[in-house]
Amino acid sequence: MSGPVPPPPPERPSTPQTLDFADPDTRSVLGRLFALTWSHRFRCLGILLLQLVLLALGLLALGLTGLGVDVIRHAVQPDSPPPAWPSGLTPPAAWPIMGVVGGIAGLIFLMALFRAFLNYLYANTLAIFIQREVIARLRADVYDKLQTLGFRFFDTQPSGTIINRVTGDVQQIRAFIDGVVMQSLIMMLSLAIYAIYMVRLHPWLTLACLATTPILWISAIRFSQQVKPAYRRNRLLVDRLVHYLSESVQGIAVVKGFGLETFVTEQFRERNDEVFTQQSWIFKRVSLFTPFVGLLTQINLFVLLIFGGWLVIQHELALGTGLVVFAGLLQQFSQQASNLASVTNSMQQSLIGARRVFEILDAPVEIHSPPNPHRVSRCSGQVSFDHVSFAYANGENALTDIELDVPAGQCVAILGATGSGKSTLLSLVPRFYDPVSGIVRIDGTDLREWDLADLRRQIGIVFQENFLFSRSVAENIAFGHPAATQEQIERAARIASADGFIRALPDGYETVIGEFGMDLSGGQRQRLAIARALLLEPPILLMDDPTAAIDTQTEAEILAAMDSAMAGRTTFLVAHRISTLRKADQIIVLDGGRSVQRGTHDELMKLAGPYRNVAGIQEHRTE
Ligand code: ADP
Ligand code: MG
Repeated sequence: MSGPVPPPPPERPSTPQTLDFADPDTRSVLGRLFALTWSHRFRCLGILLLQLVLLALGLLALGLTGLGVDVIRHAVQPDSPPPAWPSGLTPPAAWPIMGVVGGIAGLIFLMALFRAFLNYLYANTLAIFIQREVIARLRADVYDKLQTLGFRFFDTQPSGTIINRVTGDVQQIRAFIDGVVMQSLIMMLSLAIYAIYMVRLHPWLTLACLATTPILWISAIRFSQQVKPAYRRNRLLVDRLVHYLSESVQGIAVVKGFGLETFVTEQFRERNDEVFTQQSWIFKRVSLFTPFVGLLTQINLFVLLIFGGWLVIQHELALGTGLVVFAGLLQQFSQQASNLASVTNSMQQSLIGARRVFEILDAPVEIHSPPNPHRVSRCSGQVSFDHVSFAYANGENALTDIELDVPAGQCVAILGATGSGKSTLLSLVPRFYDPVSGIVRIDGTDLREWDLADLRRQIGIVFQENFLFSRSVAENIAFGHPAATQEQIERAARIASADGFIRALPDGYETVIGEFGMDLSGGQRQRLAIARALLLEPPILLMDDPTAAIDTQTEAEILAAMDSAMAGRTTFLVAHRISTLRKADQIIVLDGGRSVQRGTHDELMKLAGPYRNVAGIQEHRTE
């Protein structure tokens, strides 16, 4: 671990405007996608084999149709060329003509049944394989990675983008295996087989009919290049929409409290409309392109009828096994060829999605244990800040040259205006961030030498507002330590003066807390949070203004809980009330990230300065 400035999270690399294979970034993303596909190669091979069988069955049915036509034609016109039965399969001449045709039709029907079954199997195996194996695994990887990333990463990424990456973008990667690799393999294989079949029927006719195919492909590629930037913008707009949604749901209390419902609805509608307009633009392009492909296909048929028809009349081509089969092949060929557009499309989309997922998987983990970490099961709790400065991603110092020494078991109170750096100072103790310069130590050891899990176990944290999960009270107290015993949970609750109200809840400790803990009062929530912080009896306790969001009546309950929680622990306490501050062993007053005053209550009261001003105002108020 090094001391100097940790590098800022990487900027999102700018995506090239078109699918540029010369671009090293595109190549590396593609390379990784192929590697991912390769790791599933056996499954993919199985799917491919299934496709081959389907293809063979389709061709067989087509050939049989042609044969049926020739049989009928020969019956109607005995001077026309006889049907070309595969060697050794010519039916006895005594068979009635309708019997033969009926037999062929029956065979075709049986094959259709079998193909339907295989198609069902194909759709199912593919869906299950891709959903369960690829998506679930990738999603878990992304989620795991998110848990290891430091706060710096989250500071620069709105939560909506992150949620979108775990859900939407992972799907785009799936689309690569499914819609790009498998589809193009199937496409190339089918096209090759169709082309060989057609050339064997009649090379010149094949050439004439397929003359338009290059036009089709060139226009497909141009088309997808045209819509790619639109797809990328679409992801951004959806990100913004989801971000806005998640924010306004989480902040619903604020929204309602300020009567902002209409405003928020209006804002949401605007973003939603934006997504809609953008999607319609893409849709319009797509709906222009599809008929164009259809038109090109019709030109093929035009050539086939004129040139192919003439060949049949010249007896150079059989009507059924020649022209009819050719028509069928041509139709299948055009269908597959027009898939190229959707393949390149999927490729564009999955490249964008993959890039966003890989950005998370690749984001550097800045905060981690060193190779030979300092292992401690329980520290004494002496904390020191040695000329510590810190800056967030924007580069401005949030803390400058902080000097602080807190002996084990003592309480340091932090006073300062909003934005003065109180929470930032606290967040350096559990090493949520590393200082830009200076050293934070616990029991004399630089935090960067500590085993991270050991370090975090020494520290209990209570925030201004604490997130409770929609689980039982007991699970919330034991959050992160599922092995905690009921006894430990109840002891923590008792110290936090929460045991009483918990027992009065409908199911006691098993009561499930509603979404966002809305069904507990603020004071109750804070006491649960204190219990949670105390569960493992941490030697160090951080309390970031736990009474800030609480009305004065319930404040008294929390203050009592805080007093018993702090007993015997090194405590960092952000507080504003002089009555609380005076109990601290030392007080540090922050202003703009600098320590402007330090001392005990009595010492600071003797000096002119911010502390005495605050005390004066509060005394004045209580009079
Ligand atoms: P306090 O807790 O005293 O209100 P903070 O420690 O939260 O102050 O903030 C100190 C300064 O750092 C403020 O200018 C604030 O805007 C900035 N800040 C806080 N958190 C972040 C963050 N996650 N990213 C960027 N700047 C931040
Ligand atoms: Mg704060």
